[in-house]
Amino acid sequence: MILQSLLRRFADLSLGRKLGAMSLGGMLIAGLMISVALGTLSWITLREDLLRTELTVARVLAQTAAPAIMFEDPMAASETLSALASHPEVGDAELRRASGELFAFYRRSARSKDTVLRLPHTSTIDVAVPVEAGGSVVGELRLTVDMSPTYHRVLLAVASILLVVLTVIGMVLVLQTRLLARVLVPVQSLVASIRRVSESADYSQRATVRTRDEIGELGHSFNAMMELIEERDRAMEHLALHDTLTGLVNRHYLRMRARMPELSAGQRAVMFYIDIDNFKQINDTIGHNFGDRVLAAVANRLLSMTGGDDVLARFGGDEFVLFASLPTPAADPVEMAERIRRAVSVPLSLQGRDLLLRVSIGFAIAPDHGNAINELLQRADAAMHLVKENGRDGVQCWDASITARANQRFVLETELRQAIQLGQLSVAYQPIVALGSGTVTGMEALVRWQHPQRGSVPPSEFIPVAEESGLIVQLGIWVLEQACRQVRHWHAAYGPLHLAVNVSGRQFRDPGLVQAVSSVCDRTGFPVDLLYLEVTESTLMQDTEAAAHVMQRLVALGMKLSLDDFGTGYSSLAYLKRFPLHKLKIDRSFVKDLPRNADDGAIVKAIVNLARALDMQVLAEGIESDKQHGVLAAMGCDFGQGFHYSPALAPRDFESFMAARRVPQHQPQEDSRTRY
Ligand code: C2E
Ligand code: CA
Ligand code: CA
Repeated sequence: MILQSLLRRFADLSLGRKLGAMSLGGMLIAGLMISVALGTLSWITLREDLLRTELTVARVLAQTAAPAIMFEDPMAASETLSALASHPEVGDAELRRASGELFAFYRRSARSKDTVLRLPHTSTIDVAVPVEAGGSVVGELRLTVDMSPTYHRVLLAVASILLVVLTVIGMVLVLQTRLLARVLVPVQSLVASIRRVSESADYSQRATVRTRDEIGELGHSFNAMMELIEERDRAMEHLALHDTLTGLVNRHYLRMRARMPELSAGQRAVMFYIDIDNFKQINDTIGHNFGDRVLAAVANRLLSMTGGDDVLARFGGDEFVLFASLPTPAADPVEMAERIRRAVSVPLSLQGRDLLLRVSIGFAIAPDHGNAINELLQRADAAMHLVKENGRDGVQCWDASITARANQRFVLETELRQAIQLGQLSVAYQPIVALGSGTVTGMEALVRWQHPQRGSVPPSEFIPVAEESGLIVQLGIWVLEQACRQVRHWHAAYGPLHLAVNVSGRQFRDPGLVQAVSSVCDRTGFPVDLLYLEVTESTLMQDTEAAAHVMQRLVALGMKLSLDDFGTGYSSLAYLKRFPLHKLKIDRSFVKDLPRNADDGAIVKAIVNLARALDMQVLAEGIESDKQHGVLAAMGCDFGQGFHYSPALAPRDFESFMAARRVPQHQPQEDSRTRY
């Protein structure tokens, strides 16, 4: 137990103490052993010597005393024994006859005076010799020898040996401390280096190597390891701060590492936020590899426009950021943005394909619009978003109204989130009329938001916000459920009316769409074949493969698809073949100027014919006059929708509308054209 705790204590000592303790312990043990060995040796030799001397003395005395016993002369014997006075080590002497009877004796009177060290009585030894005369033993002489002086001498020898040993240990210790320092200092400095590195996490530090022994080797290995770590750190840092595709720095670099340049008076710097328009389409239609090459090409074009301390970063996806100082105080940032836009828009030939890229650029100026990288970035980004909203392919300088708008949007989004829970949303129904017969065949469900302070907020304002925030997924399904429940209820009164519900592109990207739509139909019992889902061209374009797949699954469930706002988008005829569409909805913009505008008339006619040829139904949106109704009906357009018949109505108003229309059916009016 004690040994174990001692060992444990020893293990916790510093290396210097350990070595010191070990050598001191070793030397003490060795010194002790040497002293004991030498002491024992001297004791044995001294004792042997003494005994031999006393034996000789006893023999001589015995020989001299023999005649005294023979002639019965004790006086002579005593005289002989008194010669022992010159032998201080002999205490007593007794001469006995062969019969054992005491014949003569000698006592040392002052022996205690000579004894320096008083030892127990065992410190005497008896030496006995026979007294012979004429060949026979006549008595015995016994000497009692005092060993104390011998002990004393031995102790003295041991003490002097110990003294020598201790002196040697002392000298060795002094020498050892010097030598130990030579061993310990490199170890301690290595330990200090390691501690410094681990505390500061600065792997550029190196240990100083002082020796060529194992410790030196350890130092070299440590330094080599640091070298490796540093190299790896550099590689990781490079990876973390650079874009592997273009080799440009990335978002993190710009946000964390880029420094604002020192701008002298009148000097300005510009943060350009550059976003390639419809880049996703390139990725989706031609492939990601091709998309990557396009990005690399754009990076090169942008790089060729930079110089000096300008920072060009790829911000992710198809976004680039250029932070450049204006060459002269008079330089115009707008002009610079336009130059970037033109440079990127130069026709691009890649892998046998010709490409016309367009970009949206927003920018913010330092110091006018901010003095921090992040602030400028955010403002340039907001300006770029405005370009996107305004139809892409342009440049926009940041101003306060842009951020104000963005803030408004944020507020709107927050309020919209609550609007669903607070019951501020409702669904209105705009009747759809068969142009030939004038009968109501269905309706389109349109969401309405009654804001407690702002009144009715138009969908054109909040639907984009809902789309951007993803809220549209929840909102769209809510509208669908309300509409299905309502129209299912109306079927009893008005017959099998079709229901059209808008589905935004964002909803198509939601993996749960098909499941959500079909479960709404299940829950409400709405007949699937009467449900039209309205999609826009941009939805079809966003992820053609995935979108086509989702549409096929919806159609497989029995629903129908309408292409909304037809004519305003890309109007790619390829889409019409590719997707399982049942109905084209001609956008209001072509109907608006009918019948005055002959071009619009020709376009509408062409769309109607196209729909016929592709075996699709066709509907005209935004019919506001009887004349428009007439032309469209004459062109063979199947359905119409617009204020001419009715705006979107709240359920109760829709019921009144239907009730009002029933009357003329029972009492036919003269002019059949007014029968819708
Ligand atoms: P949309 O799908 O093209 O809907 C038709 C829009 O035209 C509706 O506007 C309707 O009120 C309006 N309209 C109908 N007839 C006429 C007319 O004769 N003249 C004029 N000037 N306008 C007419 P609204 O309700 O403001 O909706 C605007 C857009 O918001 C919709 O365009 C649709 O894209 C979107 N939207 C509305 N409700 C929803 C919804 O529940 N989900 C989704 N994803 N989008 C919706
Ligand atoms: Ca619609
Ligand atoms: Ca429309």
